[in-house]
Formats: sequence, structure tokens, C-alpha cells
Amino acid sequence: MFKHKCELCGMEFESKSNRAKNCIYCRDKAQAARNRAYAEKKSGNAMKIGSEQVCPICGKTYTVNSSVQKYCKGCTASKKSAPNTEYLKGHYDYICVNVPKGDREKIKAYAESQGMSVNKLLLTALEEYKSNHGGKG
Ligand SMILES: [Zn+2]
Ligand SMILES: [Zn+2]
Repeated sequence: MFKHKCELCGMEFESKSNRAKNCIYCRDKAQAARNRAYAEKKSGNAMKIGSEQVCPICGKTYTVNSSVQKYCKGCTASKKSAPNTEYLKGHYDYICVNVPKGDREKIKAYAESQGMSVNKLLLTALEEYKSNHGGKG
């Protein structure tokens, strides 16, 4: 038997292996951590449901609810869903705009390249049109 000092808790323990690093209590923990790290590596970006992750946006720790969840609940909501619909209803009117088939993605990409939302792009375009063509406004 070899005598070791546990790297994690500092407790002295004996092991048949001369390379043991952790006592029996910590070995399980260390192994579990390794397993988890391995599983995360293997699954690439997919998050393990129920695992704890740190939100890259706000830095808070959150529990993963779906394999595509990359941010905490708050940040997922603010990224995904439209801004507060109640606010929108109170402050904006909604116009449904039809675009030529296939142009939707192009418009979206263009808006993104300009650092704007499609909504903002359309409003900006409208302002420019008005300033070039006169009209009330
Ligand atoms: Zn230990
Ligand atoms: Zn967050």
C-alpha cells in the first residue's frame, strides 16, 4: 500500500496505486467531474439537460432546460422572444409587410449587416424615401 495525501481535501489515505491522487471520498467526486467534462466535450456545444452552466451574457449560473439553451432564462427570453409585447402594443402599430419570395432572408441579412433590425431598417428606409421624395411627415 502507498500512502498519499488527497489533492482535494488533504486527508491522508492509502492506496494500492502509487499514483493515486484523491482519497476514496474525493475520488468519486473527481471521477464524476471528469465524466461530466468528458460528456460535455463529446457533445460539443449541446448542453446537458439539468447541468449547471454559466450564462455567457450575464455571467449568472443557470440550470439547462434544453439541449440548445445557451443562456440563462432571462437572457434567452430577451434574445429570443420579441421585446415586451405589452410595450409594443402600447407604443407601436403593427404593419405586416409582404416581400418577394426568398427576399425575407436577404432583407434580414442586409439589416444585420447594417446593424439594424428589419423593423428599424424599414423605418429608416421610409425616412430616407420621404426625405428624397418629399411628402408629409
Ligand atoms: Zn479527499
Ligand atoms: Zn444571462
